[in-house]
Amino acid sequence: MLKVEHIGIAVKSLSLSVPLFEKLLNSQCYKTEEVASEAVATAFFRQGDTKIELLESTTEDGVIRKFIDKKGEGIHHIAFEVADILSEMERLKGEGFLLLNETPKDGADNKLVCFLHPKDTNSVLIELCQEKG
Ligand code: ZN
Repeated sequence: MLKVEHIGIAVKSLSLSVPLFEKLLNSQCYKTEEVASEAVATAFFRQGDTKIELLESTTEDGVIRKFIDKKGEGIHHIAFEVADILSEMERLKGEGFLLLNETPKDGADNKLVCFLHPKDTNSVLIELCQEKG
């Protein structure tokens, strides 16, 4: 894996949290994007070589809403950039990790993504992501 590409943070409201993180990080949100397949609206901040991704649920029963209902707002996932997502998925499967999607899917920020089941990763949701060419 190449680096921590971003850290995903579940929030109740982007309209409250974007200004909060702009103050905290002293930088402007550079992109907002809705990912319909995941029922999330996202907002991105660039922080040196990595990013912060804020995630708000767009539906009553989306994954982010469920996460917040269970655990409250906070760190939702850590995303690692990989050069070749298919071979990394194969490698991790071979090591016994459970993949939450068997084929890479479209994520926010022009990425192909795959998530690992947190039961295998000390309850940390791990995202693999590869920049789409
Ligand atoms: Zn992410």
